[in-house]
Amino acid sequence: MEILEYARPRNMDEAFRLIRERRGTAIGGAAWLRTNTKIMTLGVDLAGLGLEYIREAGGCIEIGAMTTYRELETSPLLKSRFGSLFDATVSHVVGIQLRNIITVGGTVAGRYGFSDLNTTLCALGAKVVFYPGQTLALADFIEKGAGGPFLLEKILLPASMKAAYQQMRISENDFPIINTTSAWTGSGWRIAVGSRPAATRLCRRAMAFLGDEPRPSDEKIASASQIAADELQFGSDIRASAEYRREILPALVRRALVEVRG
Ligand SMILES: Cc1cc2nc3c(=O)[nH]c(=O)nc-3n(C[C@H](O)[C@H](O)[C@H](O)COP(=O)(O)OP(=O)(O)OC[C@H]3O[C@@H](n4cnc5c(N)ncnc54)[C@H](O)[C@@H]3O)c2cc1C
Repeated sequence: MEILEYARPRNMDEAFRLIRERRGTAIGGAAWLRTNTKIMTLGVDLAGLGLEYIREAGGCIEIGAMTTYRELETSPLLKSRFGSLFDATVSHVVGIQLRNIITVGGTVAGRYGFSDLNTTLCALGAKVVFYPGQTLALADFIEKGAGGPFLLEKILLPASMKAAYQQMRISENDFPIINTTSAWTGSGWRIAVGSRPAATRLCRRAMAFLGDEPRPSDEKIASASQIAADELQFGSDIRASAEYRREILPALVRRALVEVRG
């Protein structure tokens, strides 16, 4: 990565203007940006804008765009509201040194197919807040993008939810072959699947099949897990074939649903 001009804006207005009017590239943790060899004409460093936080506000949990994975993993607030969910979701990502650098904003903005975190955020029904104020469902943003330059400010989560994450990797620190998170919202089920290897999608048919039953039977869970695998498209890459992904997904969805149901 080569940066021709580097800017460190002092506030969000300035950052937004540099990104929108001068087509600057937002710099989060820069762990992913630095893996490519492109020339960046204007880099807009988001450090110093106060976007590192995990806090409760207005009945939601707010996570600032510059919050690192390590902060997610070790947050007492997230632990008290979601149990070990965030730890389970991000702890496979390389090592603590990297997780101290990579950011929630860089992950959501990138809409990466392989993402562990985006799968969990989708299942929780997260919303993305773009500066200066537009809010989108994260699942819709991942599917359709933002349609132009944007500055991601924060993620909104429900105040608490019971959810479980499952994944399959060939080796511990590689990208996942497939991943899934299931969540019980209090009135229905949400199931997200990522690393297909394309980006995370909700399994709407499986979610509808489970309906509003908080304690579905083992048989119903098994059927929902199969519906999830049947309704999604899978692809092949160097890690796994589409057929393999489709074959193993039901077991992972079933495990996650059983964990949440108890
Ligand atoms: C070696 C390596 C291994 C990895 N392995 C995994 C893995 O196994 N599983 C997994 O889920 N992930 C993995 N990742 C990805 C990682 O989890 C992050 O998703 C990724 O690094 C992006 O975060 P970042 O902070 O580095 O973003 P950056 O590199 O800073 O930015 C990424 C993109 O997002 C944009 N951006 C950043 N912040 C904002 C913002 N606030 N508003 C608008 N745009 C923004 C940037 O312009 C850029 O286009 C890996 C990354 C690396 C480098």
